[in-house]
Amino acid sequence: MIKPGFVSTYLPPAGQQDPAWWFVFHGDRLLVQVGEQEARLPLLAELAELGLAAVRWQYLGTLDGCHCYAAEVAEEAPAPESWSYQGLRRLFGLLPEPLFWLAGRASQVVDWDRTHQFCGRCGHLNQPKADERAKECPQCGLVTYPRISPAIIVLVEKEDAVLLARSHRHPPGRYSVLAGFVEPGETLEEAVAREIREEVGIEVRDIRYFGSQPWPFPNSLMIAFTCHYAGGEIVLDETEMADAGWFTVGNLPRVPSPLSISRHLIDWFVAKYPDAPAPQSW
Ligand SMILES: [Zn+2]
Repeated sequence: MIKPGFVSTYLPPAGQQDPAWWFVFHGDRLLVQVGEQEARLPLLAELAELGLAAVRWQYLGTLDGCHCYAAEVAEEAPAPESWSYQGLRRLFGLLPEPLFWLAGRASQVVDWDRTHQFCGRCGHLNQPKADERAKECPQCGLVTYPRISPAIIVLVEKEDAVLLARSHRHPPGRYSVLAGFVEPGETLEEAVAREIREEVGIEVRDIRYFGSQPWPFPNSLMIAFTCHYAGGEIVLDETEMADAGWFTVGNLPRVPSPLSISRHLIDWFVAKYPDAPAPQSW
C-alpha cells in the first residue's frame, strides 16, 4: 500500500513523450499481459501504440518519475493481441505491489469519472475542475469529488479466541472478521460498536485503530480496528450472517487472502501465539 515513489497530481504534463504507465480499464477489468509468475502493464508514450483509443482518461501523477494514466476503453474494444483484461483481485502477487495498489487507485478514479459525467443536482454535463481532481457543473456550480466510501473492519478478541463470522454471501467454511459501512454522522468507533451489535449482538470495549486499506471494489476505504469482548451472547442477524463464533488459533477456519486488511488483522492475532499454525487462505 505504501507507494514511496508515487507523487499524486491531476494536471497532465504538456507534450509528454516518455513511456508512461497506462492503467487501461474495460469495465472494471485491467489491461495486462499475464505470464506464469507475473503480469505486465502497458508502458507507452501513447495508447494508440496498442491500437487502443480511450473513451475517457485521467492523469494520476508519477511513480518513480514515470507518468501514470488511468483510462477507459469502449465496451466493444477487444484486447490487443497477447494482452487481456483481468480482474484486479487476480493480479495481486502478479503485478509489482506499487503498480497493483496504483491500479486500485486508477480503477476508483475511472469509475468516478464514468459515473459522474452529469451533475447530480441539475443533470447538466459536468466539466473537469481546473485546480483539483474534481468535476464542476457549469450550470449550477456543484463540485463533485471522487467518491470514497469509508467502512470499518474489526477484530474482536475474547481471552484466547477471536470472533469470526460468515455472511450469506460466502460459501460454508469461509470466515472473516466483521465489517460494515460507516453511516452519515457517525464516528468510526460508533460504527464499530454498532456493526458488532447489529451483526452478532455483543458489546465491546477498548476499540483501537489498527490501520487502513483502500479497497477499490468499487470505492471503499477500509479502516481497521481491534477491540475486546465486553458482554452479551452471540445472536446472529440472520438476514446477513450465516454463522459466527469464537475461534482459537489452533482451531481457525479458512480466512481471507493476504491481500486484505482482514487477513492482516487475523495474522496480528495469530502472531501472539508463536507456536500457532499459519492460517489457511480461502
Ligand atoms: Zn448542476
